[in-house]
Amino acid sequence: MSAARPNDMRVEEILAELVAVDSTSSRSNADIVRLIAARAERAGLCARLFPYTDEAGVKKLQLVAAYPKSFEDGGEVELVLVGHTDTVPFDPAWDEALRLTEREGKLYGRGACDTKGFIAAALAAVEATDLSKLTRPLALVFTADEEVGCLGAKRLAEGRAFRARHAVVGEPTSLVPVRAGKGYCLAEVRVRGREAHSAHPSLGASAITRAARLVSRVERVAEELKGDAHAAFDPPHTTLNVGLIRGGTAKNIIPGECRFTLEWRPVPGQPPERVLELLGREIEEMRREEPEFDCEVRVLRLDGGAETDAGAPLVRALEELTGKRAGAVSFGTEAPQMAELGAAAVVFGPGDIRVAHRTGEFVPASELREAASILGRVIERFCAPRHQ
Ligand SMILES: [Zn+2]
Repeated sequence: MSAARPNDMRVEEILAELVAVDSTSSRSNADIVRLIAARAERAGLCARLFPYTDEAGVKKLQLVAAYPKSFEDGGEVELVLVGHTDTVPFDPAWDEALRLTEREGKLYGRGACDTKGFIAAALAAVEATDLSKLTRPLALVFTADEEVGCLGAKRLAEGRAFRARHAVVGEPTSLVPVRAGKGYCLAEVRVRGREAHSAHPSLGASAITRAARLVSRVERVAEELKGDAHAAFDPPHTTLNVGLIRGGTAKNIIPGECRFTLEWRPVPGQPPERVLELLGREIEEMRREEPEFDCEVRVLRLDGGAETDAGAPLVRALEELTGKRAGAVSFGTEAPQMAELGAAAVVFGPGDIRVAHRTGEFVPASELREAASILGRVIERFCAPRHQ
C-alpha cells in the first residue's frame, strides 16, 4: 500500500469547519459531533453516537467511528485516534475565535491548537486512506467534556464502549510523541474555627490561622514528594498547589471558617491517594497539638498518572515517523482512560500546549499538515501491516 498523502488544503478546510462551531465545554457539542460523524460516514466509517446529559442538564454526544462497518459496540480495534471536541471558553472580543484565520503560516482560532487541529488531521488522514486495504479495525473516537475533567472519556471507559490495542490521544505536543503523563487530583480543605469579637481573641479560634499552619505543612509535604522522582518529567516529581483560599467574614471578627483548594499532579507509579495520606498525617499531628483542630478534606478528583512502555510499538513508530524521542507532559490527558480500555497510549498532536487556552491560540499550518501525514502512516502501519 503506498503512503497516502493527505491533501494539504483539505486539512485546513476541515479545521476551518470545526473552528466555526462553538464547542465550549459548557455548551452542547452536538453540532460539532454531528458534523464530524457525517464526514466520517462519507469516508466509509460507521459512526456510533454515545449521548449523555451533563451535570448542568446539557446534552453531550460522543462519537465512535469505526472501520470495518461491521464493528460492534465493545469490540476491539487495532488502533484508535482520540480527540476531544470541547474547548475552553473564549473572550467574546476575540473576533477570530470562530473564524479560522491564517497569518504568517499560523492558523488562529479557538481550539485550533487544543484539539481541533488534531481532529482535522485525523479526519484528513482517514479521508486520504484507501480503507479497503485495511486488514485490522480502526476507530476514530471524539469525546466531550475533556477540559472539565475528562468526563466523556471516563464514561466511555466505564461503559467499555470499545477496546483498543494502540491509541493516539490528540493533544498539542508540537508533534513530539508523549508516552507518560502526570495525573490530576483536587481536594477542598475546610478548616473550622470559632467566631468571636476580635477584641477578645481568647473567646474564639481563628480558622484562618489554623489553615495557614496547615498550608505551611503542605509545603513540607511538597518537599517530601521530591524524594519520589520520575526522571521523564520536568519537574520530576508530584507537584502541589494551593490555588484558592477564602476565609473570614469581617476584619473585626475572629474567622470561623477558612477553605482552600489543594491540587496535585502525581507522577505515574505513585498512587494518587499518596498526597491525601501525607495530608492526613499532618492533620493528625495538628490534632495532637491542638485537640480542637477541626478540618475536613473533600476529594473532588483523583486521577493517577499514566505511562506507556518506552519500547511499545506505537511509541517506537511515532519516534521513527517524527524523528523525535518520546517524552513526558505534566498536563492531564485522556491517555489513562484509553489505557483502561486496553490501549498502549501515546499523546501526540500539532500545536504547542503553551499557546492553548489563550486568546490568539493557533496551530502552525505546517505542523497541521505534517500531523495528517504522520497519522496516515500510523494507520497504514497498524491497520494494514505489510507482513502479517
Ligand atoms: Zn486538550
